[in-house]
Amino acid sequence: MVKTFAYDLSYQEWKDWMTRHGHPEWRANQIMDWLYVKRVDSFGDMTNLPKNMRAELSEFFHLMPLQVITTQVSRDGTVKFLFGLHDGHAIETVIMRHNYGISVCVTTQVGCRVGCTFCASTLGGLKRNLSAGEIVAQVVMAQKYLDPSSEKVKSVVVMGSGEPFENYEPTMKFVRIINDGHGLNIGQRHITVSTSGVVPNLYRFADENWQVGLAISLHAPNTELRSKLMPINRRYPLAELLDACRYYLEKTGRRLTFEYALIGGKNDQSEHAHELGKLLKGMNCLVNLIPVNYVPERNYTRTPRKQIFEFKRILDSYHVNTTIRREHGHDIDAACGQLRAKHSRLS
Ligand code: SF4
Repeated sequence: MVKTFAYDLSYQEWKDWMTRHGHPEWRANQIMDWLYVKRVDSFGDMTNLPKNMRAELSEFFHLMPLQVITTQVSRDGTVKFLFGLHDGHAIETVIMRHNYGISVCVTTQVGCRVGCTFCASTLGGLKRNLSAGEIVAQVVMAQKYLDPSSEKVKSVVVMGSGEPFENYEPTMKFVRIINDGHGLNIGQRHITVSTSGVVPNLYRFADENWQVGLAISLHAPNTELRSKLMPINRRYPLAELLDACRYYLEKTGRRLTFEYALIGGKNDQSEHAHELGKLLKGMNCLVNLIPVNYVPERNYTRTPRKQIFEFKRILDSYHVNTTIRREHGHDIDAACGQLRAKHSRLS
């Protein structure tokens, strides 16, 4: 029998499983408690379940789909995990400390096929999608790491390796599982999903009718430049992307975030800032400027600090809300895909 992962099941699916296997439905509450509150390492540790049920659970499920390969801890408290999967692949997950609490950045795919030119995650292409449980387990593992210090994961960003909207259903299931009050109970407003602009699924996401945040990787103020930096723009050009963003804004009434990685000499000049200001003027959005991380495989340089502030000043003059992202884990392999890329070079 092929076993599935316990973290792949939602609360409702646990209740259905109990009923199907002749157990009272309320046993699902105990399972959720062991998985998400007590966070035990084996079914044998679920001591308020009958012994035969624990044996049955071990027969049907694997408990934890991830094993820690390495843990890097930065001077600023950022923690980066490289997790091994059951089929030998590796993925990255990051814990970040902010003044508003602790957030975890999760990965949704092994590798990525989108091909953004500034990103290390896409270098080997897409290996496979992660299941909902493999994404959920990243948050559980992060929380387990924090347990001894009594710190809690407050928010989750789906911004690690992979394009979440190319692995849509498992990613949405993941959001529902971590939001469930019987599980990790992370509020929808504390979850943000990021996409490079898979337009059809942007419409689907807008129609989900929930309060989960959305971030769009924009990175260019016009479609020609965006196609050069992000090949996905040839499939879903900027104008179509912005139409979908306007639909999202109308449908949800929420503000959305545009991520803009500043790449030295490519998209970080004053004229780019003016163009971006004109493009986004009047939109209910926040632009998050990200000084690009150095990736050895790419030949991109960082934008000087002064120029980053000038870029922000120009956007401010168009009344476009703008922040500069604080960098996390600069002394470790912080950019998404770097640690995994290094691991595959060494192994
Ligand atoms: S930035 Fe995101 S979507 Fe683009 S290649 Fe990297 S992982 Fe994929």
